[in-house]
Amino acid sequence: MDCGSDKVIYMDNNATTKIAPEVVDAMMPFLTDCYGNPSSMHTFGGQVGRYIEEARQSVADLIGAEPEEIVFTSCGTESDSTAILSALQTFPDKRHVVTTRVEHPAVKNLCENLDNLTGHKHRITRLPVESDGTLDLKRYEEALSDDTAIVSVMWANNETGVIFPVEEMAAMARERGILFHTDAVQAVGKIPINMTTNAVDFLSLSGHKLHAPKGVGVLYIRKGTPFIPFLNGGHQERGRRGGTENVASIIGLGRACSLAAEKMDEENTRVRALRDKLEKGLLSSIPKSLLNGHPTLRLPNTTNISFEFVEGEAILLHMNRYNICASSGSACTSGSLEPSHVLRAMGVPFTAAHGSIRFSLSIYNTEEEVDFVLDKMPGIIENLRQMSPFWNNGEA
Ligand SMILES: *Cc1c(COP(=O)(O)O)cnc(C)c1O
Repeated sequence: MDCGSDKVIYMDNNATTKIAPEVVDAMMPFLTDCYGNPSSMHTFGGQVGRYIEEARQSVADLIGAEPEEIVFTSCGTESDSTAILSALQTFPDKRHVVTTRVEHPAVKNLCENLDNLTGHKHRITRLPVESDGTLDLKRYEEALSDDTAIVSVMWANNETGVIFPVEEMAAMARERGILFHTDAVQAVGKIPINMTTNAVDFLSLSGHKLHAPKGVGVLYIRKGTPFIPFLNGGHQERGRRGGTENVASIIGLGRACSLAAEKMDEENTRVRALRDKLEKGLLSSIPKSLLNGHPTLRLPNTTNISFEFVEGEAILLHMNRYNICASSGSACTSGSLEPSHVLRAMGVPFTAAHGSIRFSLSIYNTEEEVDFVLDKMPGIIENLRQMSPFWNNGEA
């Protein structure tokens, strides 16, 4: 099927990424000949288990963990749910959860449904953010209480790329005997993470955000952390996650993690430079454009820019004509007329929040692509503004 992948300028990598060709190669044998079940007694199946353990080691190496601390899951969302629900079952008398107002729907909507899911009433503290998307640690400290079962704070925001001080926050939670979970889906592979030097108890990651397939994720569970499985079934993953392993995708994730370790440097130099060129170019060539998010405490690949007095959806449609792929807010929140909960939490004015576009790059982007986007965007915004009732010759 020709889906046009050779024509697109793909700058939507926080929504999903291209599967690396090396990852496809590593997976192929397990989608064809090597179809045995790793739990089988015979060599044909059992040998597959050895490759799963190699993949587990590669994931562990990328984040400075032990292989025993890596549990394969079906996605980042499952990992998030598993960690939070486990902590609440571990401490049934603690009914308080601390999180933020800018979490991905995987955490946000779980927290909104906790009372229904557990049959208990919970108190949720959703920490506000500053206008640049950063957190106030003083407020965080004040939120922690004897009743807090778990803190769940993302490592990096999917919409703005803003990075939170999760290591500091995890240390503060540990001092008080509170479990700490981080949704690191956007951070893993983009910035260095070392679990040996932090106090994070649970960490979620997802394959399809780092050039592995969709439908595979990991929950890191620190050795010694109390844990109650979400999926009960067979003894897979040492009894911590039932269900026959998604073998090919797990192998693919392992390969993607070893690649990510190799490419981390490039991500933080070449990709960062492309992102910076794109960002500076757009902000300087398009009037009334604003950066959403802290200028430096940010992932190297992400920029979120508001073009005032135009609709994000309309901008995307015009970009689509040039085969430029990006997002307005989060892919999960588009389709509703409300501006993204992340930009609202940051207090981005209504007229700007509606015209926000997230560009998220990867190692597969080139300078020619950035130049092309820089060439096309001013015209797109200008044309849309000419049609906007709120825009008159550059004056709001
Ligand atoms: C994509 C994403 C998720 C969800 O991961 P899935 O594997 O798609 O379930 C969770 N958190 C963040 C920050 C994400 O960007």
